[in-house]
Formats: sequence, structure tokens, C-alpha cells
Amino acid sequence: MAHKITNNGKTLVSINPATLEPLGEVPLMDAEAVRRAVKNAEAAFPMWKNLGLDGRAKFLLKARDYLLEHIDDVCDLISKENGKPRIEALVAEVFLVTDLITYYTKRAKEVLKDKPIPLHNPLIRATKSSVLVYEPLGVVSVVSPWNYPFSIPMSGIIFALLAGNTVVFKPASDTALIGLKIDEILRKGGGIPDGVFNIVIASGREMGTALFEPPVRKIVFTGSTAVGKKIQEIAAKHLVPTVMELGGKDPMVVCEDADLELASNGAVWGAFMNCGQVCSSIERVYVARKIYDRFVEMCVEKTKKLRIGQDVNFDVDIGPMANEEQLNTVEEHVKDALQKGATVLCGGKRPEGLKGYFYEPTVLVNVDHTMLCMKEETFGPLLPIMAFDTEEEAIRLANDSIYGLTASVWTKDKEKGERIARELQAGTVTINDHAYTYGICETPWQGMKESGIGRSHSDEGLLEMVFPKHINYDHSFPFMKRRLWWFPYSRDAYQAQKMSVRAFMKVREVPALLFKLATDKGFRRALF
Ligand code: NAD
Repeated sequence: MAHKITNNGKTLVSINPATLEPLGEVPLMDAEAVRRAVKNAEAAFPMWKNLGLDGRAKFLLKARDYLLEHIDDVCDLISKENGKPRIEALVAEVFLVTDLITYYTKRAKEVLKDKPIPLHNPLIRATKSSVLVYEPLGVVSVVSPWNYPFSIPMSGIIFALLAGNTVVFKPASDTALIGLKIDEILRKGGGIPDGVFNIVIASGREMGTALFEPPVRKIVFTGSTAVGKKIQEIAAKHLVPTVMELGGKDPMVVCEDADLELASNGAVWGAFMNCGQVCSSIERVYVARKIYDRFVEMCVEKTKKLRIGQDVNFDVDIGPMANEEQLNTVEEHVKDALQKGATVLCGGKRPEGLKGYFYEPTVLVNVDHTMLCMKEETFGPLLPIMAFDTEEEAIRLANDSIYGLTASVWTKDKEKGERIARELQAGTVTINDHAYTYGICETPWQGMKESGIGRSHSDEGLLEMVFPKHINYDHSFPFMKRRLWWFPYSRDAYQAQKMSVRAFMKVREVPALLFKLATDKGFRRALF
């Protein structure tokens, strides 16, 4: 862990994973305090909802401006508490949030405006119309991990607040100070009223279940598949809906005609950014056998040039891992691979002379699907590379996983890229790039299989935060005192309905219906 619990479970001490020095202390909340935070959010909901979209957007834009004014402090804190170099904090965390606020405070009007539903049945359309109105849900809980401790929770929080919900947010214990920075940006910087946004700093095990039960109306959880399943079980007892953004084991498929310079640069970045602690990191590479040796050689050459350390002078590519457990998992995966016959071509150990949770970026070959590094989420700086002979084999290997978050295909042939992309079991498939689409706020982020449920980002992500209520209007003439399908039932009513059904399905039956209507009083009475 990169934090310590002290003072009989009452205080959390955050630790810099690069230096192992303490960074700050935060009081821990117990289950009762978490419950109170949910109650506060519930009480603030009507006021926040009634402010309307424009009223709420003003607070978020103010928070964005405060963030822009404090951009260096925020990047510095993200780098110190989480370990990633400041440039990654800026691009993958801060920029995403400022862009999301700027774009969706405008776009939300279009997404959340009332939507008429075209009714296709002329008999219904003559007297009825329908519309969807998007209502906020109430209290939304946002529980997030430590790997992108700013952009991940902020994505859920911004959409929830913009749509009119109030929020209770639990940051990961390893990044509690960044959680408090989010609180500062929204409440002090944005002026968001009391009760609308509530942070709870609590340990996952001690915080109780208040975040996953009514009056919470939606859970936005990002984290491991194992914890996601536990939360899903609690939520299921009360039918609280969830968005689950969970683990991944993302494959990269490199075709024979790929641009090798581009693909090897992409592999090294996709596997080692954020020290490999990305849900959508490249965790497995499948390369066409013809280009395999050259591709591996290029990856090793580029990996050896990466600079590891704490980012003090903007001259570091790879920081420490965020905590010791994650480092242990990486070591276990490398050990298991070596025992089963893999070869480490570079890395494969902790670097000498660095105190924190560092691990050298590692390229592995002679790997297969019996190894942990090809089956389970490593979430660390490993790049295992395997050869394939046919397109079918590449697709089969890539899909041989319980996960399905993202995947990438590398080829100069657009058609082939699309063909393979359509076959891969993943929420997002990128062609000639990897993982970066989390940074585009208008595209959906979503997992297939055990990588998750629901979406964040994009219009669909915003729609997760509202209930699409259906309102149906009646425009019948006042003399129509009953509807076609009401009591009393009769033989005439049955006949009338039958002719209507036939006329509705086949145009040639319409004249018969009209004739009957014009000539048969009982029939007319049965209808109106
Ligand atoms: P985690 O599941 O251990 O923790 C996630 C959050 O849940 C943290 O805030 C944690 O404190 C809390 N938590 C843990 N146990 C809990 C419990 N019993 N009850 C309630 N809350 C609990 O995940 P992590 O180690 O913080 O993050 C790494 C995982 O997150 C990886 O599997 C990664 O793939 C996944 N992730 C997924 C996405 C995505 O978008 N799909 C993005 C980032 C990370």
C-alpha cells in the first residue's frame, strides 16, 4: 500500500510511492459518517435538480477555471501521490477533465432535451403522442481507483452533477489527497453548494454499504473485477443500477503489413505509460510470425531507452508503481512466466538505487496462455509478445480472455483493420493506436465480458445519469368517451379490432375497414 492507517484506524497517512516518505494525513470516516454523507446528498437533491442545466453548468465551469489556475499544483500532487510523470498527469488527467466540462456543459442541452418518440401506428398516432423526458436520478455514488485518481472520478462526478444528481464520492485510499483536491476544486473553486458534492475518505472494508443501497440511485464504480462483483451483489439486493468499469487484459494485434516503427513505438507506450497501471494497457501482443523477430528487437531497443525515476525535472518516462501489492503482482507474473519457459529480454527486476516501488519495464517472449502474464491482469510494466501464423489464430488468441475492455489492430490495410476490429471482443478497438480514446470525452468507454457494465464518457455515459421517463399525451376529440381498447368487450369490438389489425398490417385491407366504418353503426360504436 502507498498509505498507512494509524491512530487506531482513525487516520490515513498518504505515502509518496517514489520516496516512501509521508505526504499528508487525513481523518478516516466510519460507516455512520458515510451514511450521513449520503443523507446530506439526498437532502440537497431537490435544490440542485431545480437549478436546471444552465444553473448547474455555471458551477462546473467555475470549477474548471479554478483547476486551470491551479494546474501545476494539481499535476504536482497527482505525480507525488500516484507516481506518474507530470506530463501524464497533465494530458491524461487534467486536460481530459477541463475538456469534458467545456464540451459537455454545452452538449448536454442537446443530449438531455425532451425527445418526441415517433409513433408509427396511424390509429394510435391520430390521437396520441409520446415524449421522453430525462430526469436526474437522485444520489449517485462514485467509487474510484488509484491509477487515474483525478480523471476517472471526475468523469463520473461531472456527468452526475451536470445531469442534476447529487454525489457521494469515495476515492481510493492510496490517493486520498487527490480526492481532497477534487473536493477543493468543486466546492471551494466551483462554489458548489453544501450537500451537492460529498467526499468520504474511508477504507473499502470499514465503510459499510451505504454507498451501494437506497437512497443511492446509481453506483459508478471503477476498479477491479473482483471488488466490482462484490459491489454488484450488494446493489442487486436493492436493484440499484450500476456502471461498472472493471479490469482488462488488452491485446495488441500486429499484422504482417504493419508500420513497424509506429507499432513498436505504440507497443512500448501502450504497455509502459503510467508504469503499465492502466485498465487498457497493452497486456498481450500478438505479432505475425514473419515480422516477429524484427518487432521484438525494436521493442527491446526502445524499452531500454526509457528513463525510470521520480519526476523532479521533467526528464522521466516511467515513475514508480503506485503501491507494493501491485509490484508484488508484477513480480509474481514474471516468476510464473520464467518457471513455465518464458524469456526476459530486458527488465524483469526492481532497479538498483531507487527506494520506492519501482520496476523496470520488461519485455517477455516465449510466452503462452498457460502463464499468468497472458491470462490475468498484470497491471504493471510487462510487455509479453507472442507470434501468430494466421488472422484467425490472432483473433482467437486475442479473444481468449475473460476480459474485453479495449484492443488494437496494427496494419496499413484499412479493410483488414476493420475486419479484425469487428471480430475482437472489446468495448473499443483502435486501429494503429491504443487506449488513448479515454481522453476523447465524446466516445464511449465501456467493457465487454468481465470488463464491465454500462458506459462512461460520450452521450451514452451522460444518459447513464438520468432516467428516461416516458410521458404519453392524449389528443382525442372530447366526444370520444372511451378508447378503442377499453371495456365493454363485445363481438363487434372483436371484429373491429380484427379488421384494424389486418388493415394495419396490409394496406389492401384498409378499404374494407373504411367501408365497415361508414356502413355499420354497431361497429362504429364498438370503436368509439
Ligand atoms: P479496487 O477494486 O481494489 O478498488 C477500487 C475502489 O474500490 C477503491 O476506491 C477501493 O478503496 C474501493 N474498494 C475496495 N474494496 C472495497 C469494498 N470491499 N467495498 C467497497 N469499496 C471497496 O481497484 P484498484 O486496485 O484501486 O484499481 C485497479 C483496478 O481498477 C484494475 O483492475 C483496473 O483494470 C481497474 N480499472 C478499470 C478502469 C476501467 O475504466 N475499466 C479504469 C481504471 C482502473
